Amino acid sequence: MYVPTSFSSSFRSHELSIPDQIRALEKLAQIDAELKGLQEQLAQERSTLDGLRSGIAKLDEKLGASRASLAVMDKTRAELVQDVRNMTQQLDHSREKLLRSRTERESNAAQRELEELRKLVRDREDEIGKLSTESEASRQQLEATESDHAKLVAELGAREGDINSKLGEVSSKEREKQTERGAATKTLPAQLYRRYDMIRLKRGTALSQTSDGTCNACHMALPPQLFHRLRREPILEQCPSCNRIIYFVAPQPAAASIPPERG
Ligand SMILES: [Zn+2]
Repeated sequence: MYVPTSFSSSFRSHELSIPDQIRALEKLAQIDAELKGLQEQLAQERSTLDGLRSGIAKLDEKLGASRASLAVMDKTRAELVQDVRNMTQQLDHSREKLLRSRTERESNAAQRELEELRKLVRDREDEIGKLSTESEASRQQLEATESDHAKLVAELGAREGDINSKLGEVSSKEREKQTERGAATKTLPAQLYRRYDMIRLKRGTALSQTSDGTCNACHMALPPQLFHRLRREPILEQCPSCNRIIYFVAPQPAAASIPPERG
């Protein structure tokens, strides 16, 4: 149920007439729409920069991890190669033993030693082979990551200057708009401005009009009694559905009753 409020009456005594307050609110809404556009531009430019930077940071991290794992593989491989070298010397030694053996027992023992060593060497060589394949794949992966990284760094280098100057340009426009807004808010009754801003923060926009009994912002029908009051004389009320500050504008042949979002 709509409960009539004395929302408008508290502003009647203000030095600005209600029609002037409506014009001042329209101007403020226009400034806020422009500010919103500028802030969206700023957010977009910043997110482009952040995206490039965080992409580079992620690849930096990946490169670090890949290089560390490659270093471990290389170290393990070097140790295995050294093992094979030592075992080859032991093999020579066992062969000599076999040649020198005088009994069957000595000869058998030397044979067994030789076979065991040969098996150990084969195992190490298998491991070396596997590691080589693995590290070759890792190296290719690393090169691909390095190339992605270089591309992103180049892209950042190419675009950073433009984005920063765009950011500077839009920021200064935004500051000018804020100054303009400060001046625009000062003309309004303080309570009306507070109400406007509270609604704006909650809804994105704070102002609405009606020409035919529905709220132009939320498209809900207004209570007939409220619409009647709005139409009778210039007053400011709040839409009972969306809470936006609402006032009457005469219907126009072309739908031009809403101020443009951006100028
Ligand atoms: Zn509404």
